Amino acid sequence: LMIIIKNDKEIDLMRIAGRIVAETLLLVEKKVKPGITTAELDRIAEEFITKHGAIPSFKGLYGFPASLCISVNEQVVHGIPGGYVLKEGDIVSVDCGAHINGFHGDAARTFAVGNISEEANKLIKVTEESFFKGLEFAKVGNRLTDISHEIQRYVEASGFSVVRDFVGHGIGRSVHEDPEIPNFGRPGRGPKLVAGMTLAIEPMVNMGTYRVATLGDDWTVVSADKSLSAHYENTVVILPDGPEILTLIK
Ligand code: MG
Ligand code: MG
Repeated sequence: LMIIIKNDKEIDLMRIAGRIVAETLLLVEKKVKPGITTAELDRIAEEFITKHGAIPSFKGLYGFPASLCISVNEQVVHGIPGGYVLKEGDIVSVDCGAHINGFHGDAARTFAVGNISEEANKLIKVTEESFFKGLEFAKVGNRLTDISHEIQRYVEASGFSVVRDFVGHGIGRSVHEDPEIPNFGRPGRGPKLVAGMTLAIEPMVNMGTYRVATLGDDWTVVSADKSLSAHYENTVVILPDGPEILTLIK
């Protein structure tokens, strides 16, 4: 386990990357509506990222073919943008990474397409809330899995399940650094949190089983029972007086 602690200057650079990711997601959110294809959302995001002097982190990462991961309905993560036309009632998870000045930002949101069911709305809300519940434990002196445990506790208390097969991660000069950050498990384990750790915390929440499967494109991860799935992620930095979210504009 090699956790790379960032100094103040590096954290400043990560704020820049994080802000571009946050702005990209706000732009994509505005474009999400019935009738638009996921490929068009990807094109809009890529144009915005590159216009700001950054590079889409995911394009080419492990061979991924697009700038955004876009996962619709029962798709959990790693959906490939394409000809699918969003329709009223869909939910769409958008995962975005940007690389600038040597550092990455990484964040994800799940958006409603037009009017969605009450249950789908609750799923999106609980997923986002579980991130913030976990974040309360992201402070100096706690252990990593204090975050994991709280996310699982909150999600399951709300009647949903957390995906086990994919986890959050450290982030910095690489998109994926140590440590892995599960969204489940017992508290009080893993490394102690120290100032300068930069973490991508990202609960993936299914309405039904936590089990997942990968489609024939070898990328798209779906819930095993085809129940709806939502995703919420931010890049955060642990500071002496608490966590700061780098990929969220208030
Ligand atoms: Mg991500
Ligand atoms: Mg991530």
